[in-house]
Order: sequence, then structure tokens, then C-alpha cells
Amino acid sequence: MSSIVLLGATGSIGVNTLIVAKRYNIRIEALVAGSNIDLLNKQIAEHSPKIVVIANEADKHKVNHDNVRCGNAAILTLIEESQSPLIVNALVGYTGLAPTLKATSLGKKVALANKESLVVAGEFIDMSLITVIDSEHFGLWYLLNDRPLSKLYITASGGAFRDWDLAKMKDAKFSDALKHPNWSMGNKITIDSATMTNKLFELLEAKWLFNTSNIDAVIEKKSIIHALAEFTDGSTTAHFAGVDMKLPIAFALQGEVTEEILPPVDLLAMGALEFLPIEATRYPIWNIKEHILNNPHLGVVVNAANEVTIEAFQNEKCSFFGMADMVLDAYDKFGDVKAKNIAEIIEIDKEVRAYANAK
Ligand code: NDP
Ligand code: MG
Repeated sequence: MSSIVLLGATGSIGVNTLIVAKRYNIRIEALVAGSNIDLLNKQIAEHSPKIVVIANEADKHKVNHDNVRCGNAAILTLIEESQSPLIVNALVGYTGLAPTLKATSLGKKVALANKESLVVAGEFIDMSLITVIDSEHFGLWYLLNDRPLSKLYITASGGAFRDWDLAKMKDAKFSDALKHPNWSMGNKITIDSATMTNKLFELLEAKWLFNTSNIDAVIEKKSIIHALAEFTDGSTTAHFAGVDMKLPIAFALQGEVTEEILPPVDLLAMGALEFLPIEATRYPIWNIKEHILNNPHLGVVVNAANEVTIEAFQNEKCSFFGMADMVLDAYDKFGDVKAKNIAEIIEIDKEVRAYANAK
């Protein structure tokens, strides 16, 4: 890849993407960030992008660049004007959907960390242009071959509360939920890991990527195995790799990778591995897993309700389990919706947010 546009540069995936891009001498045509202007200024000094987009006009004067634009519409214009064949979308949440659609409508490839794009509108996204940046899907892609498959598995760490007493979880705070046992990631995906919503989203992501609903998830607490493929012949293969997103990012940027990105896993240091079921008592969102895998168009409902409830949880207007209650309530209420196009997706998203906000 000669050059990229990087959306979400100051986030966890964005920072790792810049490290990988530097290693491969990939030019950074444009950087898009929200409000972490200090880090953005360091990135501008190091990577000399031609254009910069930030979220808010009020921060513009702090950015050390003479071509700064602001707001969501500016991200879409940037994609339109860009020369780069690849857009790396590492924005978080629903904000990432419009840029994914804009890029694919222009025939540009998208290295997509923003899984919410697929959860919300997978049916309307041209998958031939998408490479996903997600460790489990990278693992699945790595495992797949021409042999007949019977089932796919991805693993979950179990998130911040996997070892907590259920009774104590009722009073868990936002700051508790941010303590992920294995991965260092942005706040939203860390909360989604504590509720297991992230894994539900990843099953949907896999559905659109690999065109199958025959996929499940299990807990593997060390996050060393990311995915497993079960073949018709009775063999199961597993993908092991370090807990570091630079490996999937390197493949998403380069297509193929022939040198060491991460040190190999140390088999003797690893110790025992175990697989555990995901229990709906601890992760109530798991109650809808089968249903949503067979009705993936309802991802838009779960995503909108989830984004509203995370904010409510952060502002202490909702308890930890109150988040799942709200999402499951919205799932029930909007169970009959089925968008026929993106305009209807946008409409449903708005309605669900209004409903969840009014609760
Ligand atoms: P972060 O919260 O760390 O980063 C989000 C990025 O988006 C930041 O650069 C932020 O800017 C920017 N941003 C947010 N809102 C806006 C906006 N309105 N306009 C412009 N920029 C904005 O998230 P992660 O990097 O953890 O996750 C990004 C995506 O990747 C998510 O969809 C997540 O699910 C997915 N993902 C993440 C993994 C990980 O290891 N982190 C693994 C697999 C998938 P700023 O900080 O400057 O405000
Ligand atoms: Mg993942």
C-alpha cells in the first residue's frame, strides 16, 4: 500500500496503525481524530499528513497544521478528495458507518476496525472491498482452507467481570468495567467486552465476512487462542498469537506479511488453557445470540440501544445490568423492523435512540 487515510488516528487501533504504517513506509495522506489534539499534533509532526480532520471547530486553533477541517461531513469530503486506495476506519461507534459507506461507494478499499459498520448495516456494505481489523476474524481467515468446514469459533476473554461475584456486578461502576484483563483498547469496546456485546457484534461481523451463521464463541481467558475452525472430518485447528493488534493491522495494510510482526507465542510459558461457556446469567446479552445470528438485520437495534446505555452507565444513570435490560427491551420492542436500504437504517437508528433515551 502506497498511502492511506487514517480515521480514528488517536485511538488504540489508530496508534497501532501508525506504527505498522511507519514500518512499511506507507504514506499518511490524512489523519482524522476527535478531541485528543495533543496526540494528534505529535502524529502530524511525525507523519506529515496533507489534510487533518477533527471533531470540533473549537479545537481548530490548537492543531499545528494549515489544512484542518472539522466535523463528520468533512470526513466524507476528505474520503471523496483523497488519492489513497485504502481508508483505515478506526473510528468508534455509529459515527464510523457513513465513512465506510462513502469509501466503498467510491470503490475504495476499507481496512475496517469499526465493527459497528457491519453490525448496523452489513447487508448494505460491499464486502469485496472490506478487510476487517479484528483479532478473531483475522484468526479465522488464517485458519480457513479448502477443506469442508462444520463450524467456526471465536474466543472471548470474558471481560472485566468474568471472575466477579454476580451479586457484586450489580453495583459495578464504569471505572471497574474499564479494567480489561488482557487487552488495552478504547473505552467503548472495553465496556462491550465486559457485557459480552463485543462478542455478539463479532459473531455478526463474522456472519457478513464469511457468510455463515454457523459460528459460536467460547471464553478462553488468556486471549492466546483467537479463533478455531472445526472441519467436517473431525479436526479442529486453532489460531494462536500474541495479544497485540499490530498483526491483524499489518495484514490489513499489506495483504501478506512475511516478516516477524510479533514474537511467536511461548508454548512452554503459556501454561494450561481452558475453554468455558459464555453464561447468560453473567452476560444477559447472550440470550439473543441465536436469534440475532438468524436475524442479523437487527444489529442496528442492538447497536443504537447499546450506545445509548453505555453513555447512561458512564453517567451513572443506569447500572451495569441495566445496560443489558435496556438493550434487550429495545430488541423486543423493535423486533419487527427490517431496513430495505441505508435511509431506513438511519431512521431505525434514530427511533431506537429516542426510545432508549426516553426510558
Ligand atoms: P478508541 O476510543 O481508542 O479510538 C477511537 C478513535 O475515534 C479516536 O481517534 C477518537 O478521537 C476518534 N473519534 C471518535 N469520535 C470521533 C468523531 N466524532 N470524529 C472524529 N474522530 C472521532 O477506540 P479503539 O481504537 O479501541 O476502537 C476503534 C474501533 O476499532 C471500534 O469500533 C472497536 O470496536 C474496533 N476494534 C478495536 C480493537 C482494539 O484493540 N482497540 C480491536 C478490534 C476492533 P479522540 O480520541 O481524539 O477523541
Ligand atoms: Mg476482537
